[in-house]
Amino acid sequence: MPSLTQVRARFQRARCNAQMICPRLPLLMIGHDEALSIVLDQVVRLEPEACPVSLARGCVLAKTVRSAASLPPFDNAAMDGFALRVDDHGAPAGAVFAVSGIQAAGDPARGFDGEAVEVTTGACVPAGLNTIVPVEQVEVQERDDAGTVLRIRLRNAAPIRQHIRRAGEDVAPNMPIMGAGELVQPQHLMLLEALGLTHVAVTRKPRIAVICTGRELVDEPAQALESGQIRNSNGPFLAARIAAAGAQCVYRTTVGDEPDRFLAGLAQAQQARADMVLSTGAVSMGRRDFIPDVLRASGATVLFHGVRIRPGKPLLFARLSDGVPFLGLPGNPVAAAVGFRFFAEPALRAMLGMPRERPLQVPLHAAFEKRAPMSFYLKARLFADAQGGLGTTALPGQESFRIFPLVGANAWIGIPEEASEMAAGRLVDVYGLGHLQPPGIDFEMNEVIR
Ligand code: AMP
Ligand code: MG
Repeated sequence: MPSLTQVRARFQRARCNAQMICPRLPLLMIGHDEALSIVLDQVVRLEPEACPVSLARGCVLAKTVRSAASLPPFDNAAMDGFALRVDDHGAPAGAVFAVSGIQAAGDPARGFDGEAVEVTTGACVPAGLNTIVPVEQVEVQERDDAGTVLRIRLRNAAPIRQHIRRAGEDVAPNMPIMGAGELVQPQHLMLLEALGLTHVAVTRKPRIAVICTGRELVDEPAQALESGQIRNSNGPFLAARIAAAGAQCVYRTTVGDEPDRFLAGLAQAQQARADMVLSTGAVSMGRRDFIPDVLRASGATVLFHGVRIRPGKPLLFARLSDGVPFLGLPGNPVAAAVGFRFFAEPALRAMLGMPRERPLQVPLHAAFEKRAPMSFYLKARLFADAQGGLGTTALPGQESFRIFPLVGANAWIGIPEEASEMAAGRLVDVYGLGHLQPPGIDFEMNEVIR
């Protein structure tokens, strides 16, 4: 990596050249798909690590998980009642059985002499007994002084092998139970715990650093704003989104509009062993949009700057001098959100070994017209109509500075570059707010159309 002085000198030179040639160089924009494939080319799948099952929720499995045992582990009673020995035809209504003891859930498997044993749900089925009759279907004919049942009569016929949960009926030993790329959720924990697995191989969580630029930004919520200042909303948003996306935010800083502080931030991100660095702001065409030049001066390769997407067209992607991918998100909050959702998140999926995302196809509720030859991402609501059919609508207030409509959104609509007039009823791509977050569905149509 070049020294800070060298970087500064190169940066100044680049700035002067750029200003002389063209004070406002236009962005050479590429299309969404091309940009995304450049990003995906630069990211590698991260290594697997053994994770205790108790900590695995929210991690992505790195390998197929196989069961190490049978589930249920032994034949057991599915009902409170009586285990009986019957022949292949079962036992007829009215049959009488002498009861020779009780087997409760948790009792070790035992042998009994006789043809019937009282059982509770989950009890081992006593050896030699082959059906279970629920307690409601018997009439107790005799008890001893302690209340123990001694004899029963069947109210209904009892077929052989009823109400027995067989060993391995749910999961057989060595059966593949979860696949690589699957997100570990509470139901996965239930199965892993039921099988007594202590560790699973998960893909290491991607380590992400966030550098916010802009001398107008105030990080401390309690600090009063001075004239011209705004609060840093992108930083906390991205930190939260990173965690929700199955990654970890390992470093976050705000650096004003000073290239030196930005470079110091990059060095800190490197020290924090970031797998990807994100920045916000300073990638447009303004006087203070220093990121492209300072990145180049630091030895990074800018792989694209400018994508035909709205919001978010100044998006920049580079490979830092140490090979770490760098995604420069625009400063406008919704542009930053779109850049993260549709470029950083696909990169995170690739790092996590997850397949490419596929959107839902949902009919547009109202016509949508777009003139610009760009891909659009729209703050949207997905809803179910009275018949349960899905529909989607773009929310009012699509400007990229408007945060409030994002809170009303439960999904993103994606409109491809080539589309112009989208009639009502036409199918559009619908994505969740995050790649691990399926789109919400609104069941109150009136709320949507308000
Ligand atoms: P920039 O991309 O730096 O030109 O910023 C575009 C707009 O986004 C400006 O109005 C900035 O004040 C605003 N902005 C930049 N960074 C942030 C941030 N971290 N939080 C909220 N707004 C921001
Ligand atoms: Mg700025």
